[in-house]
Amino acid sequence: MMSVPPPVTVLGLGNMGTALATALLGRGHRVTVWNRSPQKAAPLIELGARLAATPGDAVAASELVIPCVLDYEALYQLLAGATDSLAGRTVVNLTSGSPEQAHEALAWFRSHGADYLDGAIMTTPPGVGLDEVMLLYSGPREVFDGHRATLAALGDPLHLGADPGLASLYDVALLGLMWATMTGWLHGAALLGTEKGTATTFTPVAIRWLGTVNGFLTRYAGQVDAGRYPGDDATVDVQIAAIDHLLHAAATRGLDTTLPELLKSTMERASAAGHGSDSFASVIEVLAAPKAT
Ligand code: NAP
Repeated sequence: MMSVPPPVTVLGLGNMGTALATALLGRGHRVTVWNRSPQKAAPLIELGARLAATPGDAVAASELVIPCVLDYEALYQLLAGATDSLAGRTVVNLTSGSPEQAHEALAWFRSHGADYLDGAIMTTPPGVGLDEVMLLYSGPREVFDGHRATLAALGDPLHLGADPGLASLYDVALLGLMWATMTGWLHGAALLGTEKGTATTFTPVAIRWLGTVNGFLTRYAGQVDAGRYPGDDATVDVQIAAIDHLLHAAATRGLDTTLPELLKSTMERASAAGHGSDSFASVIEVLAAPKAT
């Protein structure tokens, strides 16, 4: 027998909050919403959402409460008058923030009698609800398990651990990876563009290359964790020589060379620290905090 989907409250109806509420309505949840600018609720009301008059009424309407507002300051502001409603609620906060803010939030919500999970949405609003999209959660495992089925309406839910700061730490780590990758891709597209190539023709080749790069990450992860970087495939010094070709091709075509210069200087620092004959994984030694002796 199918159970009735539990009611959910969504606080904040910006682009992301609206996408979250829409996905929950699509899975048959009774959704109560609140937004500082109430007119933004109109399309959701058409889909069956209920608009609460106050944040307190919205929190009181559902055991599970999902805030998604600009930042933590906005979160605390909007909940300032609603703290009496928090006892017995589970708050799954999808507002972006820092690990430290997640720790403070867990303590703050607990002090008002609510359970707390911190979350990060690894997509833009059109991706919300797709099974292939990850949403990251951290905080007490039993709280996650209790709401896993509902959270699955928003995308594939991944619980990263009991430490509430983990979701935002993974979030920024993954965004850093995304920005570095996308900037490298755009630099490559600009390079091809100087020879009448297009991003559209470059991209399938780039994506195939990323498959090979995936293999490098998997191979090097063990080296990073072991702190040993055997240079038996490609050494740092070989890659320093190779990046000179990229710098030359970019400079002679009038392209910005900031990115390859940064990459080269990072590799050079690793080489200067004695890792010239080691694998690329040894670059972690100049990126990571110094190890305690
Ligand atoms: P947005 O469209 O700018 O919406 C911001 C929301 O915050 C609105 O509901 C706004 O209310 C509310 N808000 C701002 N200040 C407030 C205050 N002082 N009191 C009460 N409510 C306040 O932003 P968004 O794209 O939905 O992003 C929301 C959160 O999701 C952010 O933390 C963002 O980092 C995160 N996120 C977004 C994406 C994305 O692709 N958009 C992806 C991952 C994570 P009003 O409507 O009244 O202005």
